[in-house]
Amino acid sequence: MNESIFPAKLVDRFGRHVDYIRLSVTDRCDFRCVYCMTEEMTFMPRKEILSLEELYQVAKAFTELGVKKIRLTGGEPLVRTNVMTLVEKLGALPGLQELLLTTNGSQLTTYAARLKEAGVNRINISIDSLRADRFQRISRVGKLHKVLAGIDSAIANGFERIRLNSVVMKGYNEDEVLALTDYALDRNLDIAFIEEMPLGEASDHAREDTTCSNAWVRAQIEKKYQLLDSSTRTAGPSRYAQVTGFSSRIGFISPVTHNFCEDCNRVRITVEGRLLLCLGNEHSVDLRAILRDVSKDIGDLKNALVASMDIKPERHYFYNRDHAQPIRLMNMTGG
Ligand code: SAM
Ligand code: SF4
Repeated sequence: MNESIFPAKLVDRFGRHVDYIRLSVTDRCDFRCVYCMTEEMTFMPRKEILSLEELYQVAKAFTELGVKKIRLTGGEPLVRTNVMTLVEKLGALPGLQELLLTTNGSQLTTYAARLKEAGVNRINISIDSLRADRFQRISRVGKLHKVLAGIDSAIANGFERIRLNSVVMKGYNEDEVLALTDYALDRNLDIAFIEEMPLGEASDHAREDTTCSNAWVRAQIEKKYQLLDSSTRTAGPSRYAQVTGFSSRIGFISPVTHNFCEDCNRVRITVEGRLLLCLGNEHSVDLRAILRDVSKDIGDLKNALVASMDIKPERHYFYNRDHAQPIRLMNMTGG
């Protein structure tokens, strides 16, 4: 064991305190959304992905270094075999205050009750269209009725908050901003509109042609609803507004048109155990090598996490031609 006195928290060179991790539990998915994946995907060989126990060790090491919030993501986290054994162990981790999940909703009728019981506090469910034909065009293979039933299951199980996520793209769904907002408000759900990010090459469109700014999305909503900027801040690219007369909040996740890197509090762990220090950069640390080295233990893992803070980049540069763009697709990044 590498003897070190560990700091109580992870702080990078710019004074940012990392207390939030996004843990990708699989790169696989039952959908093939046009902005996230190509139609024909090659997924990681199973031996290269972290086992559920290895994922747990990573989460444990982070919580011992002051991480309070873990979001499980992917790929689609609920397609990972035996994922509930991991969720249950994470739900019992000392020091963890919030266990969150981002899902496409297709399996929630099966899993919602168990997720709630295991300690998942909040769920984000992605839905980009309320029209079955369009939903299928965007997800390529997804079935809208399954996702709607999944949302109903999540509501029935009483999570603290449920947020819908919609990526708005010109030529695909930009005329549904108000319909999606109405759907969320009718059910007292939050909804976040996400700008499409240039992660890897999208095979069906040029991203420059489809990206819709959140300023435009907000203007569509304000044709019908009054929005009051909320003081709620989550470090990162989300900004929230309260809808007058409703309990729902509308989130605007604007990684492309706004850069909020200065208060970034998060890092990502890909399913092959790569610690990504920034969504829009390739700076990373190979945690799998440490996890699979029999001479190393959790102390070494924690040392690597502490050391990684020195390479967390100051910011990303999406669409800036002077800077290299990420070649990873979102399913390999952990959304
Ligand atoms: N499968 C789950 C889901 O769809 O919610 C979790 C993983 S998914 C990668 C997480 C989030 O990333 C989803 O809300 C999805 O819409 C979003 N996403 C994927 N690719 C994106 C891209 N290129 N730009 C912006 N958001 C993207
Ligand atoms: Fe799957 Fe989520 Fe990517 Fe869609 S966004 S392909 S549901 S991982």
